[in-house]
Amino acid sequence: MTVTVATLGFPRIGPRRELKTALESHWSGKSDVATLLATAADLRARAWARQRDLGADIIPSNDFSLYDQMLDTSVMVGAIPAIHGWKGGPVDLATYFAMARGSQGGHAHHDGCTHGHAHEGEGAPASEMTKWFDTNYHYLVPEFSEGQRFALSSTKAVDEFLEAKAQGIVTRPVLIGPVTFLKLGKSRTEGFDPRDLLPALLPVYAEVLKRLAAAGAEWVQIDEPCLVLDLDARDREMLREAYAMLSGAAPGLKLMLATYFGGLGDNLGTALSLPIHGLHVDLVRAPGQLDAVVAGAREDLVLSLGVIDGRNIWKADLAAILDRVEPVVARGRSVILAPSCSLLHTPIDLDRETALDPEIRNWLAFAVQKVAELATMAKALNEGRYSVRATLDAATAAVASRRTSPRINNPAVQQRAAQKDPSLAQRNSAFAVRRAVQHEKLGLPAYPTTTIGSFPQTPEVRKARADHDKGVIDDAAYEQFLREETARTVKWQEEVGLDVLVHGEFERNDMVQYFGEQLAGFAFTKHAWVQSYGSRCVRPPIIYGDVSRPKPMTVEWWTYAQSLTKKPMKGMLTGPVTILNWSFVRDDQPRSVTCRQIAFAIRDEVVDLERAGAAIIQIDEAALREGLPLRKADWQHYLDWAVECFRITASGVADATQIHTHMCYSEFNDIIASIGAMDADVISIETARSQMELLDAFAGYRYPAEIGPGVYDIHSPRVPAVGEMATLLRAAARRLPADQLWVNPDCGLKTRKWPEVKPAIENMVAAAEAARAAV
Ligand code: GLN
Ligand code: ZN
Repeated sequence: MTVTVATLGFPRIGPRRELKTALESHWSGKSDVATLLATAADLRARAWARQRDLGADIIPSNDFSLYDQMLDTSVMVGAIPAIHGWKGGPVDLATYFAMARGSQGGHAHHDGCTHGHAHEGEGAPASEMTKWFDTNYHYLVPEFSEGQRFALSSTKAVDEFLEAKAQGIVTRPVLIGPVTFLKLGKSRTEGFDPRDLLPALLPVYAEVLKRLAAAGAEWVQIDEPCLVLDLDARDREMLREAYAMLSGAAPGLKLMLATYFGGLGDNLGTALSLPIHGLHVDLVRAPGQLDAVVAGAREDLVLSLGVIDGRNIWKADLAAILDRVEPVVARGRSVILAPSCSLLHTPIDLDRETALDPEIRNWLAFAVQKVAELATMAKALNEGRYSVRATLDAATAAVASRRTSPRINNPAVQQRAAQKDPSLAQRNSAFAVRRAVQHEKLGLPAYPTTTIGSFPQTPEVRKARADHDKGVIDDAAYEQFLREETARTVKWQEEVGLDVLVHGEFERNDMVQYFGEQLAGFAFTKHAWVQSYGSRCVRPPIIYGDVSRPKPMTVEWWTYAQSLTKKPMKGMLTGPVTILNWSFVRDDQPRSVTCRQIAFAIRDEVVDLERAGAAIIQIDEAALREGLPLRKADWQHYLDWAVECFRITASGVADATQIHTHMCYSEFNDIIASIGAMDADVISIETARSQMELLDAFAGYRYPAEIGPGVYDIHSPRVPAVGEMATLLRAAARRLPADQLWVNPDCGLKTRKWPEVKPAIENMVAAAEAARAAV
């Protein structure tokens, strides 16, 4: 049987981020709907043709989206929050974008705290946004209420199928499966379980399938990544109910059920029992499941083997993959080769990275190259390896060179990270002892005030950076600009009466990139953008080799800032777990090993800051929680090494040096013991919008160290009043001893404007003074 090649989804932002440009120009009123839609259609046409030319036999449609595929699904089934005033019928583009961005278009996302807060201005708020499984892609959370009805409200899936067909390509349309869709939604009705809505939802899916079949589709890909999560009996029952109905919805239409981001594990039996025609499995995250899948699958079940990593950027070891796939093909099975998941999570085309070091470049494959890898392997399986011998040999050579290159291997770093000495992850004394010494040294008042690190990245700051990057201004001029900005900010913090100051982070483009650019073992691309949400893209650093710190990274800026004030200036660093979680990570060693190397590199920076005189050093771990594995059974292992890495970073200093950490979220209930085990002296967290209820986790755990629960919601331009923040502090003091509390905003202020920040921080200081008066 012929082996074919499929892609489950292709990046849609465009090779030159054309979609981003078109969207933003449309949102700002500079171009009309027709222009936007024409750009979108052109991008789709080119993506289809590109995949075909690269050798894909099965090409997806409806993987494109103007904003997000979950939002598209909500719109398809008519799950539109009432606030948008939709009256039924086809959902228009204005409503679509209102759901995505709020009806004023006011959005307040920023690096790190990329939750879906959009409380800006008047009009309807945007839907909440959250991370898509364990990726850095964010989807818009569907909203459900009791008794909700669904109706087909967008024919996008059919329209795009016909569009491709007109181009001569019969695609395999992609839908997000009904079970995953409901499970990822949230309930608007207290105590209501959206899963109750399955019977109401299925007829809409059935209708879409009928229309696709009528339009000429032979296969439809239905994504149910929820199958790699921990499921309960009800979830499994839902899957059976859903696919019993959908498989009969359009006679002759075949369903490819796609699972990805992990192994099926204890859900394998459920998946294999469904009346589907094909099953896609992720063999990158879970290579071990191949045997069980093959052994348990019906003889006529088409197997789509996800053998190429859709979540990373490395060239694959094609010969090794062939060794594993050949026996399956030899058994007469119908096999499709595919990436592990949609290629949405990879950059588009390596060919544009002309400035990248050639040796490193030779180790990489982006979406385009990955499709070509699949085509090579299919040819090898169909015609024999000799037919693609040169390509296979080149892949083997690239993989071998990556294994042995001195660029990757730094024995000193490996030895250091391999040290087992537990004292490396242990402060000299227990917290109670450190605390006394730190209080003595710092002499701070009760309810000390501080900020999380960044101050507004104004258009002037961004322009200076861009000008410097382009060579319009030289190093000296840029440096001078940053010094002035820093000096102004330090002076203002003194005037407003903050107790612990920050330099403002004006020199940092991004909290990970800034460090990655200075660490050995990291590479940066120019064009390798990956969609984060909507029109927003990120260029994650590539960690390709052993990580070390050639020289101090932040000490000069800290020293300059401290020279401007007698108040304590916090040293400001990004922690190892966050650096790891926001990068493309090498796949030739466990993540924990890479993280440990980063931990030692940042530890050196912590020690150097202390040596330069810093009494307080903050190590941000914004992404620690989001790195949690998808399956609960894997959590503890991750938390153990992540916490250990943080402790390695923090433990090189004397008792008197106060280590802070910051986390951009507020759900700590299930990981509170690990947060405690980090043994930071002070932690700042996000709490402003929860009336401090989230501190209950800390109170229940008897969290011993100091805490700064955010009292100022930095996601909103609103300036909170003194009384409001004072009330929050009282609420905090009811839960935790007052002498453990700090006063700070929820997160960094880089996305805010000075006219908002100044009065807000003034009020925050006044609220702290009021709290002190009550002590
Ligand atoms: N220090 C960083 C800042 O203030 C922290 C941001 C974050 O954790 N997302 O911007
Ligand atoms: Zn934050």
